Amino acid sequence: MSSTPIASKVIPKASRVKIDPAQIEYTSDKQKNAVQALIDEFTISPELLKDIKNNFMEGMQKGLKKDGETLAMITSYVMGRLDGSEVGSYLALDVGGTNLRVVSVHLTGGGEISTRQTKYRIDEKLKVGDAKALFDFMAVCVDNFLDEHQIVVRGDTQIELGFTFSFPVLQTSINRGTLISWTKGFNAAGMVGKDPVAYLQDAFNRRHIPVRVAALVNDTVGTLLAHAYHHPDTVMGVILGTGCNGAYIEQISNIEKWKGDAAAKEMVINMEFGAFDKERTILPLTMFDNKMDRKSVNPNKQILEKMIAGMYLGEITRNVLLNLIDRRLLFEGHISPDLNQMWTFETAYMSTIEADASPTLHATRKILESTLSFPATSLNDRQIVKLVVELVGKRAARLSAAALAGILEHTGSWKQKSAIGIDGSLFEYYPSFDTDIMDGLEEVFGPVVRKNISIGLAQDGSGVGAALCALLAAKHSTSVV
Ligand code: ADP
Ligand code: MG
Repeated sequence: MSSTPIASKVIPKASRVKIDPAQIEYTSDKQKNAVQALIDEFTISPELLKDIKNNFMEGMQKGLKKDGETLAMITSYVMGRLDGSEVGSYLALDVGGTNLRVVSVHLTGGGEISTRQTKYRIDEKLKVGDAKALFDFMAVCVDNFLDEHQIVVRGDTQIELGFTFSFPVLQTSINRGTLISWTKGFNAAGMVGKDPVAYLQDAFNRRHIPVRVAALVNDTVGTLLAHAYHHPDTVMGVILGTGCNGAYIEQISNIEKWKGDAAAKEMVINMEFGAFDKERTILPLTMFDNKMDRKSVNPNKQILEKMIAGMYLGEITRNVLLNLIDRRLLFEGHISPDLNQMWTFETAYMSTIEADASPTLHATRKILESTLSFPATSLNDRQIVKLVVELVGKRAARLSAAALAGILEHTGSWKQKSAIGIDGSLFEYYPSFDTDIMDGLEEVFGPVVRKNISIGLAQDGSGVGAALCALLAAKHSTSVV
């Protein structure tokens, strides 16, 4: 079994230069009308944004009442907050969707953290194969990491590990839970209803790897904890990566379905908000979304996630471009064999195209002609491609804003200084995702929100957060108080 590390890339954020649809020299009225129709279909008006936010809040209330609702509102067993004084060394295993990261986290107190990490790519075959093989691969990556970093375990001691397993899991304790469903292209056989911690611990034990899975953590919860370590006023952890989801701090008295210990006042809730609008009553799905959804491994599920997250935005864009091509309104009706394949238009290309400020749209040309093997493209082609990218990207950011606004209104935290930590490559690299989110929040709450709410990149928050959770779990054997 191979576990080759991949290097992490650094792409700087660039300023955003938007296409003005009025400035495009259209080749025909038909093309102009088609572009206008796309603008109408993909634009989330301020009114719709507020309606979605209200509907989202109703979904939150339902999920807090009972299990099995569209927003699962999972109780994380993480109670209370961190103060930054914690010390110790822990491991984290972060299985997010695209990559697997092993992180060793050293907490030196005073809010200081040093980390070492190695990233491994998860093979597509492992995602949809035998569950045991997938968990064995995880154990092998951890074992290799211990070797690589010469982390030696003496005697009978075990290293405590926080396991960030970012799929919907019904948690039954800080290190126990059952998988509700796979998402993000995973579908390993026989795992639904099973405990991922048991599978991972078993894989460690069979290989005599001295690691104990001390905490099972969703990446949103880890992100919240990691951001809180530096910013004690953190109220929410959000993921905008392969998938999308959020966690926030709830008053236990508001969690009607909670049957456990009521001594603590607060608990972190993993919302699983990517599942929002399973009923398809509010989100403005287009034919391009539906086409992608039908071809996904989980049709009709994770509807909001599929309009927001990194795994899907490129494919939605590809569907729009194909439609324009088929109507002979783009590239003179020619298609490149590359673009003809599903999932070939990567969301990362969208970030580059968004940031393309050159008058000839040089970077866009490079992606179309060099990467996707289109023959010579015209400026008109490239402008329309960039406009489509902007529409799909902005819709994603505004839908994220609707969800975040729902949480901020539900908790009332928009009224005071509060921090939101966001992790994920989409948020990190997509130009102006943060400012588009903030603009959406301002439409809901007014200018005060810019003063009160800070949105920050919680880079690798899910790894560090899992280690923090392992630390807290080790301290308080069953729950984190
Ligand atoms: P995970 O969700 O597995 O933890 P990441 O946070 O790295 O992993 O997110 C991976 C997702 O981010 C992929 O779906 C990919 O399409 C998207 N992505 C990667 N690079 C970029 C980029 N430069 N711009 C926008 N999206 C990106
Ligand atoms: Mg992640």
